[in-house]
Amino acid sequence: MTPRLITLIGLSLLPITATLIMVTARGAVSPALSGSVIIASIAIGFAVAFSLSRGWAARAERFEALAVSLAQHRAPSHVVGGERDPMSLAERHLLETSDALVVEFDALEEQREEFEAILRSMTEAVVVTGGRGEIVLMNGAARQLFGLAPGSNSTGRDFVELCRDPRLQEFVARATTTSRGEVLNGEFVIQTPTTRHLEVSAAPVRHGGAAARVLVFHDITRLKLYETARTDFIANLTHELRTPLSALCGYAETLAKGVEDRGTERRFLGIIDRQAQRLARLIDDLISLSDLERGLTPLKLESIEPSELAAEIVDLVGERARHAEIALELRCADALPSIQADHDRMQQVLLNLLDNALKYTPRGGRVTTEVLAVPGGVNGKDSPGVSFKVIDTGEGIPAADIPRLTERFYRVDRARSRELGGTGLGLAIVKHILQMHQGTLAIESRLREGTTVTIWLPAPT
Ligand code: ADP
Repeated sequence: MTPRLITLIGLSLLPITATLIMVTARGAVSPALSGSVIIASIAIGFAVAFSLSRGWAARAERFEALAVSLAQHRAPSHVVGGERDPMSLAERHLLETSDALVVEFDALEEQREEFEAILRSMTEAVVVTGGRGEIVLMNGAARQLFGLAPGSNSTGRDFVELCRDPRLQEFVARATTTSRGEVLNGEFVIQTPTTRHLEVSAAPVRHGGAAARVLVFHDITRLKLYETARTDFIANLTHELRTPLSALCGYAETLAKGVEDRGTERRFLGIIDRQAQRLARLIDDLISLSDLERGLTPLKLESIEPSELAAEIVDLVGERARHAEIALELRCADALPSIQADHDRMQQVLLNLLDNALKYTPRGGRVTTEVLAVPGGVNGKDSPGVSFKVIDTGEGIPAADIPRLTERFYRVDRARSRELGGTGLGLAIVKHILQMHQGTLAIESRLREGTTVTIWLPAPT
């Protein structure tokens, strides 16, 4: 019971006690009766006050528990009885509001977790900056993009400091300080340390009651590379098609006008025939490559004896080698494991390699095909397999050109390749077919000494 309540009871009993004392003093009531009335009043007063104070204390405890639950975002655990007095009604109302608040807290927490999961899994770098350009939030992709350690805390740092590219810095500074609400977009090339193309958008948001910005960095490097590869391919293709076509048109036109002697006519017809065949080869290679790239030609896998396959191809080019006065040799190791491969595709691969070896080896040279059982690397493991080596004693390839030989239309000497009937697509096709077989391709070469092209195919375990 509080001292204030005791004072209140004392004060409320004061008038009746004074009256009783006065009445008793005049002799109207016996002192015993008035004493009993006063004692009874005090007792009743204290009983009422005690009960009231207990009720208040219990309510205060409930409010305390409610405050603790709300602070911990938990639903209040107590219930209010069915009393209909104003205090109980108000308490019930407070409890209902608290329950609704807790449901809202849970929903917000779920949303926050979802938001964080989305941010974490996003490949785009996301940075939220506050009103002064300071970092408020940054996802993992952004940390990686701006060279920060994965778990590092960058909150509060000036974001402009992290953008090392001056144009990007200027964009970020403009986006984070502008008070206008429009979305700003830009495209930048940054060195981190490799060249990366970024598409950046900065949208306005509210953070802590102030204007903030969400910056999203979309890495479009691969897209740019595809675009470049596509435009290069179209430019190369147009060039490759135009050369034989203009020769065809030119000689056909001359023949149509009429030439004096039969010899010139036959020569022109020969050129037209060679150019038409070159065009046909180019179209065939293009279709082959496009089918491989689009996955339109599934492999017809069968068990193949490597030595038989090699002998078949060496046989096919035998006549050409004799004609070019190049010695052709086949060496196969004993007890080779059989391979699971598409016969026609592997024939295409080996023919291509032997064709190149014969094309780039001068008269009197030697082309050797070797078949060996060798383990090779697949997925970082040493797996059993078979390797085919096509070794020539030809002109060789400059070291700088070797890594680019499997690019479409890449040739060391464009004019010479054309003259020899090459399309520049052979090794690109070889690489694709080998990839489909989980095989590998390696090219070693020494200028004026020769080239060794090794392909490796896994043997079934
Ligand atoms: P191409 O139809 O021009 O032969 P490829 O894709 O088969 O096209 O080869 C690409 C280039 O690689 C050739 O133009 C040539 O410059 C070079 N090359 C390939 N094989 C050899 C080789 N055995 N010796 C020398 N150069 C080679």
